[in-house]
Amino acid sequence: MTDKKKSLQRKILEPLYDKSLTCLYCNHKFKSKQVRSSMAKVIKQDSDYCTYYEGDNPIFYDVFVCPSCGFAYTNSFSRITPARKEKIEKNYLKNLSAVPHLCGKRDVFDALRAYKLASLAAYVINEKKSLVGNLFLRIAWMYRYQNDIDNEKEYLEKALRFYLDAYQRGNINDLVIEEHQLLFLMGDIYIRLGKNNEATKIFSILLSDRGVSQKIRTRASEVWNEYRERQKENKE
Ligand SMILES: [Zn+2]
Repeated sequence: MTDKKKSLQRKILEPLYDKSLTCLYCNHKFKSKQVRSSMAKVIKQDSDYCTYYEGDNPIFYDVFVCPSCGFAYTNSFSRITPARKEKIEKNYLKNLSAVPHLCGKRDVFDALRAYKLASLAAYVINEKKSLVGNLFLRIAWMYRYQNDIDNEKEYLEKALRFYLDAYQRGNINDLVIEEHQLLFLMGDIYIRLGKNNEATKIFSILLSDRGVSQKIRTRASEVWNEYRERQKENKE
């Protein structure tokens, strides 16, 4: 095998690669690690899409943290307007004790830090409620990966608050996820938080609405049936 071929193979086999980015806030050009999708091996997935991987977890890398200014964001963030710039400076950057360096390989603690920064950034610039909810849900997953149940619940509750707000606004343009998917996530969180009445309401909507896609309906009926079974077992 030629050296060129060997180095090409090493490049292909290396699970992490550098993604080139331009900071949404300060325009600084930087690189941040990403997991090659071909190298991500799924072991299992929870009902709320929290996914477990063998080796590097791509979810750890969905937040970019600018190594120059410290602004944290994801691909779903919208453009930074001058009004938003001011808010970022006042309510986000000034509170950073130091610029975090989170562009390399991440463990669950680095990922948690990156997600917390992005959720704060999204909150101060008044990003879409469903986007903030998504970030809180991912923070809950970072705690679930660590078996930290108390913190997981705290962030599930936060995610739920923002999802509810997004849903009640009823503005499709304000959603970064599909409406029925949002409803499903709310129902799933209600189950995880042991809120039976609220969960019942949401799943009865999801399972009776013909407009719900087959994919979501299947997942919803699986989650709901399993929950009902568990309830029955607990009663017996
Ligand atoms: Zn920056």
